[in-house]
Amino acid sequence: MTTIKTLPGLLLMALVALLLAACGAEQSADSGAAAEKGKTYKWKLVMTWPKNYPGVGTGPEDFAKQVERMSAGRLKIHVYGAGELVPALEVFDAVSQGTAEMGHAAPYYWKGKIPSAPFFSSVPFGMNATEMNAWLHNGGGMEMWREAYEPFNLIPFAAGNTGVQMAGWFNREINSVDDFKGLKMRIPGIGGEVIHHIGGQSINIPGGELYTSMQTGVIDALEWVSPYNDIAFGFHQVAKYYYYPGWQEPGPTLELMINKQAYESLPDDLQAIVEVAARALNQSMLDEYTARNASSLRDLVEKHGVEVKPLPKAVLADLKKISHQVLEEIAASDPMAGKVYASQKAFMAQTMSYQAITEEAYAEARRP
Ligand code: CA
Repeated sequence: MTTIKTLPGLLLMALVALLLAACGAEQSADSGAAAEKGKTYKWKLVMTWPKNYPGVGTGPEDFAKQVERMSAGRLKIHVYGAGELVPALEVFDAVSQGTAEMGHAAPYYWKGKIPSAPFFSSVPFGMNATEMNAWLHNGGGMEMWREAYEPFNLIPFAAGNTGVQMAGWFNREINSVDDFKGLKMRIPGIGGEVIHHIGGQSINIPGGELYTSMQTGVIDALEWVSPYNDIAFGFHQVAKYYYYPGWQEPGPTLELMINKQAYESLPDDLQAIVEVAARALNQSMLDEYTARNASSLRDLVEKHGVEVKPLPKAVLADLKKISHQVLEEIAASDPMAGKVYASQKAFMAQTMSYQAITEEAYAEARRP
Protein backbone atom coordinates (compact mmCIF):
# COMPACT_ATOMS: atom_id res chain seq x y z
CA MET A 1 0.00 0.00 0.00
CA THR A 2 2.67 2.46 1.10
CA THR A 3 4.84 1.46 -1.87
CA ILE A 4 1.93 2.05 -4.21
CA LYS A 5 1.25 5.41 -2.57
CA THR A 6 4.92 6.38 -2.39
CA LEU A 7 5.84 5.58 -6.01
CA PRO A 8 3.43 8.03 -7.57
CA GLY A 9 4.43 10.49 -4.87
CA LEU A 10 8.12 10.12 -5.82
CA LEU A 11 7.31 10.34 -9.52
CA LEU A 12 5.28 13.45 -8.87
CA MET A 13 8.12 15.01 -6.91
CA ALA A 14 10.58 14.13 -9.69
CA LEU A 15 8.26 15.63 -12.30
CA VAL A 16 7.82 18.78 -10.25
CA ALA A 17 11.59 19.02 -9.83
CA LEU A 18 12.08 18.56 -13.59
CA LEU A 19 9.45 21.17 -14.41
CA LEU A 20 10.98 23.61 -11.95
CA ALA A 21 14.42 23.03 -13.45
CA ALA A 22 13.03 23.56 -16.96
CA CYS A 23 11.22 26.72 -15.83
CA GLY A 24 14.39 27.89 -14.15
CA ALA A 25 16.38 27.40 -17.35
CA GLU A 26 13.73 29.26 -19.32
CA GLN A 27 13.67 32.02 -16.77
CA SER A 28 17.43 32.38 -16.98
CA ALA A 29 17.34 32.50 -20.83
CA ASP A 30 14.51 35.04 -20.60
CA SER A 31 16.37 37.20 -18.15
CA GLY A 32 19.44 37.02 -20.48
CA ALA A 33 17.36 38.32 -23.39
CA ALA A 34 15.75 40.84 -21.05
CA ALA A 35 19.18 42.04 -19.96
CA GLU A 36 20.18 42.41 -23.64
CA LYS A 37 16.93 44.26 -24.29
CA GLY A 38 17.49 46.51 -21.33
CA LYS A 39 21.00 47.38 -22.48
CA THR A 40 21.55 50.92 -23.74
CA TYR A 41 23.79 51.47 -26.77
CA LYS A 42 25.48 54.82 -27.36
CA TRP A 43 26.70 55.21 -30.90
CA LYS A 44 28.50 57.84 -32.96
CA LEU A 45 27.41 58.76 -36.49
CA VAL A 46 29.96 60.73 -38.55
CA MET A 47 28.87 62.62 -41.67
CA THR A 48 30.62 63.94 -44.75
CA TRP A 49 28.30 66.99 -44.49
CA PRO A 50 28.27 69.97 -42.14
CA LYS A 51 26.19 69.64 -38.97
CA ASN A 52 22.57 70.83 -39.49
CA TYR A 53 23.13 71.31 -43.23
CA PRO A 54 19.72 71.22 -44.99
CA GLY A 55 18.67 67.77 -46.19
CA VAL A 56 21.82 65.67 -46.17
CA GLY A 57 22.85 66.96 -42.73
CA THR A 58 19.45 67.22 -41.02
CA GLY A 59 18.29 63.83 -42.39
CA PRO A 60 20.73 61.77 -40.27
CA GLU A 61 19.78 63.90 -37.20
CA ASP A 62 16.11 63.01 -37.76
CA PHE A 63 17.12 59.37 -38.27
CA ALA A 64 18.93 59.38 -34.89
CA LYS A 65 15.88 60.89 -33.16
CA GLN A 66 13.53 58.31 -34.72
CA VAL A 67 15.79 55.41 -33.73
CA GLU A 68 15.93 56.70 -30.14
CA ARG A 69 12.12 57.05 -30.03
CA MET A 70 11.43 53.65 -31.59
CA SER A 71 13.93 51.91 -29.30
CA ALA A 72 12.59 53.73 -26.21
CA GLY A 73 16.06 55.18 -25.65
CA ARG A 74 17.95 51.89 -25.96
CA LEU A 75 19.91 53.04 -29.02
CA LYS A 76 21.16 56.61 -28.74
CA ILE A 77 23.05 58.01 -31.72
CA HIS A 78 25.12 61.19 -31.52
CA VAL A 79 25.55 62.82 -34.93
CA TYR A 80 28.84 64.55 -35.80
CA GLY A 81 29.20 66.96 -38.74
CA ALA A 82 32.21 66.91 -41.08
CA GLY A 83 35.38 67.75 -39.18
CA GLU A 84 33.87 67.42 -35.69
CA LEU A 85 35.20 63.93 -35.03
CA VAL A 86 36.88 63.11 -38.36
CA PRO A 87 37.33 65.07 -41.61
CA ALA A 88 34.60 64.61 -44.27
CA LEU A 89 36.58 62.31 -46.52
CA GLU A 90 37.76 60.08 -43.64
CA VAL A 91 34.26 58.93 -42.70
CA PHE A 92 34.68 55.60 -44.52
CA ASP A 93 37.88 54.64 -42.64
CA ALA A 94 36.49 55.84 -39.30
CA VAL A 95 33.46 53.54 -39.55
CA SER A 96 35.45 50.68 -41.08
CA GLN A 97 37.87 50.78 -38.13
CA GLY A 98 35.17 51.34 -35.50
CA THR A 99 36.12 54.89 -34.45
CA ALA A 100 32.43 55.58 -35.11
CA GLU A 101 29.72 52.93 -35.45
CA MET A 102 27.91 54.70 -38.30
CA GLY A 103 28.60 57.07 -41.17
CA HIS A 104 26.47 59.06 -43.61
CA ALA A 105 28.04 59.85 -46.97
CA ALA A 106 27.84 59.47 -50.76
CA PRO A 107 29.27 56.13 -51.98
CA TYR A 108 31.14 57.71 -54.94
CA TYR A 109 33.50 59.44 -52.50
CA TRP A 110 35.15 56.03 -52.01
CA LYS A 111 35.85 55.16 -55.67
CA GLY A 112 39.62 55.15 -54.94
CA LYS A 113 39.09 52.21 -52.54
CA ILE A 114 36.14 50.49 -54.25
CA PRO A 115 35.89 50.99 -58.04
CA SER A 116 32.24 49.82 -58.00
CA ALA A 117 31.20 52.30 -55.24
CA PRO A 118 29.93 55.08 -57.58
CA PHE A 119 27.40 52.66 -59.10
CA PHE A 120 25.67 52.46 -55.71
CA SER A 121 25.32 56.23 -55.64
CA SER A 122 24.96 57.68 -59.12
CA VAL A 123 26.80 57.45 -62.42
CA PRO A 124 26.61 59.85 -65.39
CA PHE A 125 23.53 59.18 -67.53
CA GLY A 126 22.55 56.39 -65.13
CA MET A 127 19.36 55.83 -63.18
CA ASN A 128 17.18 58.45 -61.51
CA ALA A 129 16.08 58.21 -57.85
CA THR A 130 12.99 56.10 -58.55
CA GLU A 131 14.99 53.67 -60.67
CA MET A 132 17.87 53.50 -58.18
CA ASN A 133 15.48 52.64 -55.35
CA ALA A 134 13.81 50.01 -57.51
CA TRP A 135 17.15 48.48 -58.52
CA LEU A 136 18.58 48.53 -54.99
CA HIS A 137 15.57 47.05 -53.23
CA ASN A 138 13.98 44.93 -55.97
CA GLY A 139 16.68 44.41 -58.58
CA GLY A 140 19.57 42.81 -56.68
CA GLY A 141 21.47 46.08 -56.13
CA MET A 142 21.51 45.96 -52.33
CA GLU A 143 23.02 42.45 -52.32
CA MET A 144 25.86 43.60 -54.59
CA TRP A 145 26.44 46.70 -52.47
CA ARG A 146 26.79 44.53 -49.33
CA GLU A 147 29.23 42.29 -51.20
CA ALA A 148 31.34 45.27 -52.32
CA TYR A 149 31.58 46.73 -48.78
CA GLU A 150 32.04 43.40 -46.96
CA PRO A 151 35.88 43.34 -47.22
CA PHE A 152 35.89 46.75 -45.50
CA ASN A 153 33.94 45.54 -42.48
CA LEU A 154 30.95 47.72 -43.43
CA ILE A 155 27.24 47.11 -43.93
CA PRO A 156 25.65 49.72 -46.23
CA PHE A 157 22.04 50.91 -46.32
CA ALA A 158 20.42 53.31 -48.78
CA ALA A 159 19.69 56.45 -46.74
CA GLY A 160 18.67 59.41 -48.84
CA ASN A 161 18.52 60.72 -52.37
CA THR A 162 18.59 64.28 -53.72
CA GLY A 163 16.90 63.50 -57.03
CA VAL A 164 18.40 64.77 -60.30
CA GLN A 165 21.03 67.38 -59.48
CA MET A 166 22.09 70.49 -61.39
CA ALA A 167 25.03 70.52 -63.84
CA GLY A 168 26.64 73.21 -61.69
CA TRP A 169 27.84 76.80 -61.35
CA PHE A 170 30.04 78.42 -63.99
CA ASN A 171 31.43 81.86 -64.75
CA ARG A 172 31.86 81.07 -68.43
CA GLU A 173 29.23 79.91 -70.89
CA ILE A 174 29.32 76.29 -72.00
CA ASN A 175 28.61 76.09 -75.71
CA SER A 176 30.66 73.01 -76.58
CA VAL A 177 32.56 70.34 -74.63
CA ASP A 178 35.73 72.23 -75.55
CA ASP A 179 34.65 74.87 -73.04
CA PHE A 180 35.48 72.35 -70.30
CA LYS A 181 39.13 72.27 -71.48
CA GLY A 182 41.45 73.73 -68.84
CA LEU A 183 38.53 74.24 -66.48
CA LYS A 184 39.24 73.49 -62.82
CA MET A 185 35.96 72.08 -61.62
CA ARG A 186 34.84 70.57 -58.34
CA ILE A 187 33.07 67.44 -59.54
CA PRO A 188 33.52 64.13 -57.72
CA GLY A 189 32.70 60.57 -58.80
CA ILE A 190 32.71 59.33 -62.37
CA GLY A 191 31.47 62.73 -63.61
CA GLY A 192 34.87 64.04 -62.55
CA GLU A 193 36.59 61.38 -64.67
CA VAL A 194 34.51 62.44 -67.67
CA ILE A 195 35.61 66.07 -67.20
CA HIS A 196 39.20 64.83 -66.93
CA HIS A 197 38.81 62.95 -70.27
CA ILE A 198 37.61 66.14 -71.97
CA GLY A 199 40.69 68.01 -70.79
CA GLY A 200 39.35 69.67 -67.66
CA GLN A 201 40.67 69.25 -64.15
CA SER A 202 38.31 67.55 -61.73
CA ILE A 203 38.74 68.11 -58.02
CA ASN A 204 36.79 66.78 -55.05
CA ILE A 205 36.48 69.37 -52.29
CA PRO A 206 34.08 68.96 -49.33
CA GLY A 207 31.00 71.18 -49.52
CA GLY A 208 32.00 73.46 -46.66
CA GLU A 209 35.11 74.65 -48.53
CA LEU A 210 33.50 75.27 -51.91
CA TYR A 211 32.41 78.90 -51.58
CA THR A 212 35.90 80.09 -50.66
CA SER A 213 37.52 77.85 -53.30
CA MET A 214 35.33 79.43 -55.98
CA GLN A 215 35.81 82.94 -54.62
CA THR A 216 39.61 82.67 -54.49
CA GLY A 217 39.95 80.95 -57.88
CA VAL A 218 41.13 77.56 -56.59
CA ILE A 219 38.34 76.29 -58.87
CA ASP A 220 36.59 77.87 -61.91
CA ALA A 221 33.37 75.89 -61.68
CA LEU A 222 31.58 73.56 -59.31
CA GLU A 223 28.74 71.17 -59.01
CA TRP A 224 27.38 70.55 -55.52
CA VAL A 225 23.77 69.43 -55.35
CA SER A 226 20.68 71.36 -56.40
CA PRO A 227 18.92 74.66 -55.52
CA TYR A 228 17.97 73.69 -51.93
CA ASN A 229 21.60 73.03 -50.94
CA ASP A 230 23.31 75.40 -53.36
CA ILE A 231 21.41 78.47 -52.10
CA ALA A 232 22.41 77.54 -48.51
CA PHE A 233 26.09 77.81 -49.47
CA GLY A 234 25.51 81.05 -51.41
CA PHE A 235 27.11 79.93 -54.69
CA HIS A 236 25.00 82.52 -56.54
CA GLN A 237 27.27 85.16 -54.98
CA VAL A 238 30.41 83.74 -56.63
CA ALA A 239 29.14 82.33 -59.95
CA LYS A 240 27.09 83.69 -62.81
CA TYR A 241 25.48 80.76 -64.61
CA TYR A 242 23.55 77.85 -63.17
CA TYR A 243 23.43 75.00 -65.68
CA TYR A 244 21.12 71.99 -65.90
CA PRO A 245 20.49 69.05 -66.01
CA GLY A 246 22.78 67.14 -63.65
CA TRP A 247 23.97 64.57 -66.20
CA GLN A 248 26.72 63.61 -63.74
CA GLU A 249 24.33 62.73 -60.87
CA PRO A 250 20.84 61.82 -62.05
CA GLY A 251 19.72 60.20 -58.77
CA PRO A 252 22.45 59.95 -56.17
CA THR A 253 21.71 57.49 -53.39
CA LEU A 254 23.30 58.46 -50.10
CA GLU A 255 24.43 55.82 -47.67
CA LEU A 256 24.29 54.89 -44.05
CA MET A 257 27.26 52.63 -43.43
CA ILE A 258 27.53 50.64 -40.25
CA ASN A 259 30.55 48.94 -38.72
CA LYS A 260 29.90 45.20 -39.07
CA GLN A 261 30.77 44.19 -35.49
CA ALA A 262 28.75 47.08 -34.07
CA TYR A 263 25.70 46.09 -36.13
CA GLU A 264 26.04 42.45 -35.17
CA SER A 265 26.29 43.38 -31.48
CA LEU A 266 22.74 44.80 -31.59
CA PRO A 267 19.79 42.60 -30.59
CA ASP A 268 17.50 41.67 -33.46
CA ASP A 269 14.81 44.26 -32.70
CA LEU A 270 17.32 47.14 -32.67
CA GLN A 271 18.75 45.93 -35.98
CA ALA A 272 15.22 46.02 -37.39
CA ILE A 273 14.69 49.56 -36.07
CA VAL A 274 17.92 50.74 -37.73
CA GLU A 275 16.98 49.06 -41.00
CA VAL A 276 13.46 50.53 -41.11
CA ALA A 277 14.61 54.00 -39.98
CA ALA A 278 17.23 54.01 -42.78
CA ARG A 279 14.58 53.07 -45.31
CA ALA A 280 12.37 55.89 -44.00
CA LEU A 281 15.27 58.36 -44.26
CA ASN A 282 15.91 57.18 -47.81
CA GLN A 283 12.40 58.28 -48.82
CA SER A 284 11.90 61.30 -46.56
CA MET A 285 15.08 62.98 -47.80
CA LEU A 286 13.95 62.64 -51.41
CA ASP A 287 10.56 64.13 -50.50
CA GLU A 288 12.28 67.07 -48.80
CA TYR A 289 14.54 67.75 -51.80
CA THR A 290 11.63 67.55 -54.23
CA ALA A 291 9.69 70.19 -52.28
CA ARG A 292 12.56 72.52 -51.30
CA ASN A 293 14.44 72.42 -54.62
CA ALA A 294 11.42 73.88 -56.38
CA SER A 295 10.99 76.76 -53.89
CA SER A 296 14.76 77.43 -53.73
CA LEU A 297 15.03 77.59 -57.53
CA ARG A 298 12.28 80.23 -57.54
CA ASP A 299 14.24 82.24 -54.91
CA LEU A 300 17.51 81.95 -56.85
CA VAL A 301 15.86 83.30 -60.00
CA GLU A 302 13.43 85.86 -58.53
CA LYS A 303 15.40 87.18 -55.54
CA HIS A 304 19.00 86.71 -56.66
CA GLY A 305 18.71 87.10 -60.45
CA VAL A 306 20.53 83.84 -61.20
CA GLU A 307 20.74 82.95 -64.89
CA VAL A 308 19.55 79.34 -65.25
CA LYS A 309 20.72 77.76 -68.50
CA PRO A 310 20.33 74.37 -70.17
CA LEU A 311 23.44 72.59 -71.38
CA PRO A 312 23.14 72.55 -75.20
CA LYS A 313 21.90 69.25 -76.67
CA ALA A 314 25.18 68.70 -78.52
CA VAL A 315 27.15 69.14 -75.27
CA LEU A 316 24.92 66.59 -73.50
CA ALA A 317 25.31 64.18 -76.43
CA ASP A 318 29.11 64.45 -76.23
CA LEU A 319 29.10 64.08 -72.45
CA LYS A 320 26.91 60.99 -72.80
CA LYS A 321 29.25 59.39 -75.33
CA ILE A 322 32.33 60.01 -73.19
CA SER A 323 30.48 58.90 -70.03
CA HIS A 324 29.65 55.54 -71.62
CA GLN A 325 33.31 55.09 -72.63
CA VAL A 326 34.48 55.87 -69.09
CA LEU A 327 31.87 53.53 -67.55
CA GLU A 328 32.92 50.70 -69.89
CA GLU A 329 36.57 51.25 -68.91
CA ILE A 330 35.75 51.10 -65.20
CA ALA A 331 33.61 47.98 -65.73
CA ALA A 332 36.49 46.28 -67.59
CA SER A 333 39.04 47.20 -64.91
CA ASP A 334 37.30 45.66 -61.90
CA PRO A 335 35.21 42.44 -61.73
CA MET A 336 32.77 43.83 -59.15
CA ALA A 337 32.29 47.08 -61.10
CA GLY A 338 31.74 44.96 -64.23
CA LYS A 339 29.09 42.89 -62.49
CA VAL A 340 27.26 45.91 -61.07
CA TYR A 341 27.38 47.86 -64.34
CA ALA A 342 25.97 44.87 -66.26
CA SER A 343 23.15 44.55 -63.73
CA GLN A 344 22.32 48.27 -63.95
CA LYS A 345 22.40 48.31 -67.75
CA ALA A 346 19.94 45.40 -67.94
CA PHE A 347 17.68 46.94 -65.29
CA MET A 348 17.76 50.37 -66.92
CA ALA A 349 16.87 48.96 -70.34
CA GLN A 350 13.61 47.71 -68.82
CA THR A 351 12.79 50.76 -66.69
CA MET A 352 13.57 53.20 -69.53
CA SER A 353 10.97 51.54 -71.79
CA TYR A 354 8.39 51.68 -69.03
CA GLN A 355 9.23 55.22 -67.86
CA ALA A 356 8.99 56.44 -71.44
CA ILE A 357 5.31 55.53 -71.61
CA THR A 358 4.47 56.56 -68.02
CA GLU A 359 6.44 59.30 -66.20
CA GLU A 360 7.94 60.86 -69.34
CA ALA A 361 4.78 60.63 -71.43
CA TYR A 362 2.79 62.12 -68.58
CA ALA A 363 5.30 64.96 -67.99
CA GLU A 364 5.10 65.77 -71.71
CA ALA A 365 1.28 65.72 -71.67
CA ARG A 366 1.10 67.92 -68.54
CA ARG A 367 3.47 70.63 -69.82
CA PRO A 368 1.61 73.91 -70.36
CA1 CA B 1 26.81 66.62 -56.81
